[in-house]
Amino acid sequence: MATAYQQQRTIDADFEDALMDSIDKWIERDLRPVVMHHDHGDIWPEETVKQMTELGLFGATIGTDYGGLGLPATTYARLVARISSFWMAPTGIFNSHLICAMAIEKFGTPEQRAKWLPKMASGEIRGGLALTEPDAGTDLQGIRMQACKSGNGYSINGTKTWISNGIKGQVFALLVKTDPDANPRYKGMSLFIADKRDGFRVGKKIEKLGYKAIDSAELVFEDYQIGADQLIGGVEGDGFFQATGGLELGRINVAARGVGLAEGALRLATEYAQVRKTMGKPIAEHQAIQLKLGEMVTRARAARLLTMDAAAAYDRGERVDMEAGMAKYFASEAAVKNAEEAMRIFGGYSYSKEYEIERFYRDALLMCIGEGTNEMQRMIIAKQWVKRNPA
Ligand SMILES: Cc1cc2nc3c(=O)[nH]c(=O)nc-3n(C[C@H](O)[C@H](O)[C@H](O)COP(=O)(O)OP(=O)(O)OC[C@H]3O[C@@H](n4cnc5c(N)ncnc54)[C@H](O)[C@@H]3O)c2cc1C
Repeated sequence: MATAYQQQRTIDADFEDALMDSIDKWIERDLRPVVMHHDHGDIWPEETVKQMTELGLFGATIGTDYGGLGLPATTYARLVARISSFWMAPTGIFNSHLICAMAIEKFGTPEQRAKWLPKMASGEIRGGLALTEPDAGTDLQGIRMQACKSGNGYSINGTKTWISNGIKGQVFALLVKTDPDANPRYKGMSLFIADKRDGFRVGKKIEKLGYKAIDSAELVFEDYQIGADQLIGGVEGDGFFQATGGLELGRINVAARGVGLAEGALRLATEYAQVRKTMGKPIAEHQAIQLKLGEMVTRARAARLLTMDAAAAYDRGERVDMEAGMAKYFASEAAVKNAEEAMRIFGGYSYSKEYEIERFYRDALLMCIGEGTNEMQRMIIAKQWVKRNPA
């Protein structure tokens, strides 16, 4: 019988090299030429999604028993960073899907895993994670969406917002209250595998500053009938831990996106600083610009090391709340800072949409919010640190 999710994973070095090589070739041949068109027009990248399906990215972290690539966190972080160093948004399309798949693989019943994971690994169906509501983001235990017993299953009413893949995705890990009076509140929460059909519709598409081309939407549930066989794990009350159980890997992923953005902004600034001349020499020879580049390259390197350190510990099977939190916090702030410094290096041209750097600036800010805001991240790091160092 196919196994449940395995955290400890390794990869053959030749396979990893070949995979990264195919990602590089795809970026150069197919991705780079279409970025501006899709980002500026906020157009969902249909061809890119098809190509990512062919590359196996929708099964990247799903176990091989289900047809996925079963990648370790280190390889996954490497490939996410590489793609993000050119365009971050597409990594969100497969990552949101993979977090949904992970909830099923880690906590689902054998029947749920067998039913949903092969189709998700092949990319036949794409998923997302539906936790946030208009009144509850950080405070997930404050959600209002409720699933009430109805016949052999449940009837769900309520609204989710900000859901990545909301329009184009077909199936969502949906966090609801099954006992709104529970104390503590998390004991009354459950996670369902909600597929789109009657009673489940897309509300509005959310217009965003950056992270364009991937759809972020409101999802509306009106007397949506769902069988008990779609309650993840088959028991009520475990939803909060199931929904947050993938967050360590989720944070490593956001950290990897931050690494990519920080490295991409550095790459663009480095190229520009050597061709733009003022006072008769390339601006890279002015000390003021050297100070910026020196800080940027150090920041990008530190972000990569923290991220790969957290990913390697995850692959060894360790608990990595603190390491993943540090990587996410540092790498996302590095992305913002490097993008801002690159904007300054580009001078007036940074403000032109004919150049790419403004996209890095818009996209980087999101990394400080997703998978737990950086305010929460620092509190998590501190709590773990104190716990590991009792007086
Ligand atoms: C582009 C985008 C895509 C997203 N995709 C998804 C998705 O696919 N699925 C999904 O479920 N959600 C998604 N989200 C929602 C995202 O997870 C939330 O925005 C995030 O969790 C923050 O919640 P909030 O926006 O409600 O902010 P709030 O929780 O209202 O926080 C507001 C501010 O208060 C701070 N704060 C809150 N509580 C505390 C505290 N206890 N102590 C200190 N400071 C605190 C926060 O750090 C923040 O600075 C997405 C958001 C965006 C912008």
